[in-house]
Amino acid sequence: MLNDRTTVLLIEDNPIHAKLIEKLLGQATGHVFDVTTEDCLQLGLAQLGKANFDLILLDLVLPDSQDLETFFRVRAEAPNLPIVILTATDDTTLAAKAVEEGAQAYLLKSKINSAMLERSIRYALQRKQAQAREWDSSMFWLAQQQFLKAAQYMSLDDNIRQRLLFPQRTQMVAFPFRRDKHEHVETVFGYRVQHVLTMGPTKGGIRYHQDVNLGEVAALAMWMTWKCSLMQLPFGGAKGGVRIDPTEFSRQELQRLTRRYTSEIIGMIGPDKDIPAPDMGTDEQTMAWIMDTYSQQVGYGVPAVVTGKPVVLGGSLGRKEATGRGVVYCIEAAAKQLSINLNQCSAVVQGFGNVGSHIARFLAEDGAKIIAVSDATTGIYNPDGLSVGSLLQYVGEHRFLKDFPAGEEISNQQLLEVPCDILAPAALQNQITIQNADRINCKILAEGANGPTTLEADEILNEKGVFIIPDILANAGGVTVSYFEWVQGTQNYMWSLQEINERLHQIITEAFQRTYLRSQSEQVDMRTAATIEGIQRVTQAKLCRGVFP
Ligand code: NAD
Repeated sequence: MLNDRTTVLLIEDNPIHAKLIEKLLGQATGHVFDVTTEDCLQLGLAQLGKANFDLILLDLVLPDSQDLETFFRVRAEAPNLPIVILTATDDTTLAAKAVEEGAQAYLLKSKINSAMLERSIRYALQRKQAQAREWDSSMFWLAQQQFLKAAQYMSLDDNIRQRLLFPQRTQMVAFPFRRDKHEHVETVFGYRVQHVLTMGPTKGGIRYHQDVNLGEVAALAMWMTWKCSLMQLPFGGAKGGVRIDPTEFSRQELQRLTRRYTSEIIGMIGPDKDIPAPDMGTDEQTMAWIMDTYSQQVGYGVPAVVTGKPVVLGGSLGRKEATGRGVVYCIEAAAKQLSINLNQCSAVVQGFGNVGSHIARFLAEDGAKIIAVSDATTGIYNPDGLSVGSLLQYVGEHRFLKDFPAGEEISNQQLLEVPCDILAPAALQNQITIQNADRINCKILAEGANGPTTLEADEILNEKGVFIIPDILANAGGVTVSYFEWVQGTQNYMWSLQEINERLHQIITEAFQRTYLRSQSEQVDMRTAATIEGIQRVTQAKLCRGVFP
């Protein structure tokens, strides 16, 4: 996994065993382990007071403590850290007791190998994460706070406020999965969340990422509700996610995983129920596999169960580039309001996947100079301008931007701070925070990604006069053309690319105008204005439908 570092405290008195364990950790392929080793309990406990660790590997028999007493003393010092016991004592009763008392695993030194050890650690960390963060993620908190802020401005009925604060339906699945070249079976976690079922079927992408959790998916589902409502589409918000790093998986693995995940959530999805689409880490091929798996189950082809699928399977022309195109339509509208000429603008784009690469492409077509782009491997900066064609060709050949020759290498953090006219984060959430907001130096911030800006950062940027095009408006082109695809699918009637782009342009620019006018008339920031627009329509629909029974 890229950037996946785990800090481990190893408490082990036998120097030969300690070296062996360090070596096994060093051989791990999916993880980088930073190991600190201590050879007695007292020094181990002292380390816990000095540094932050992700996990403890603990031998039970130490010169200054024996058996479970060792475990109890470490647990008392670090009650929130996962502890994996690594011992020479092959004693089933002791092992059962240790696990009962909260040890994440009890491993025998004589039987471990590198893959086993890495897997145990990974599961221990994942369990901890499930315990601590499933709902309680910073992203869900952000989505709820943004909602509450807008609700406050609009004096939203408290009954509605409480209903909208949590999703209506959530499904969490854990399913077995075998990698191509591994004998063992992994347990993979997946989610599907439907935030509001009032507006019609629910709609939202599926994300494959190693950090996905229920809170993140719930936040994304809530944003989808406001986004669909702001665009006046007949959908409530939904989202799905699978907690894997797709960059590590082969095509065959991704296909098997997608089909199994689809089978697990099949009761929730359907062309009239809930319609998935691509998000980070998934693409039109993923949608084709979902469509095929669903169709196999029901016994006939159902293209309208997903959107963002290949055109040959009933996908819409223009869907692939729709999110990036929509972002640029919004930038054009904002530039007009600010009397900025895009021909003379410089632009920085974070993330060079589906959304980011199309933003760069369409901005360049509008005459803007793309001076920096980045992906998960690196950032590339060239004040004279980067050729988007060359970047696309390079990524087509090498998958990532790393070592792209025509520019200076910079970090993702540096990239966000490059002075420019237009900054478009189009990768991950939580990128512009209280830590760097002061140093963001752009006129327009166009949020291609979902949730890239925290509330505190929002305030700083608004004070600095940055024109923010919030995610639920800026990146709504994807779901809008997904809606067109769904309509085409259910009617078996295909539209031309020109029709699609014209309708997209009309819907996005109208939503931009409504948001902008509300922000002016009610003296609120653009994000709050867009959220109020979204909430208002959902509220009206909820009041019309009433409460059952
Ligand atoms: P993608 O998987 O196609 O691309 C993601 C890009 O981000 C890749 O270039 C990846 O290398 C890069 N990246 C990953 N980690 C990074 C890091 N730490 N720093 C910098 N770059 C990093 O995903 P996408 O579909 O382009 O989605 C990107 C964002 O846009 C997500 O927030 C997603 O929710 C949002 N979004 C996507 C769509 C859509 O239609 N695909 C629609 C609306 C919103």
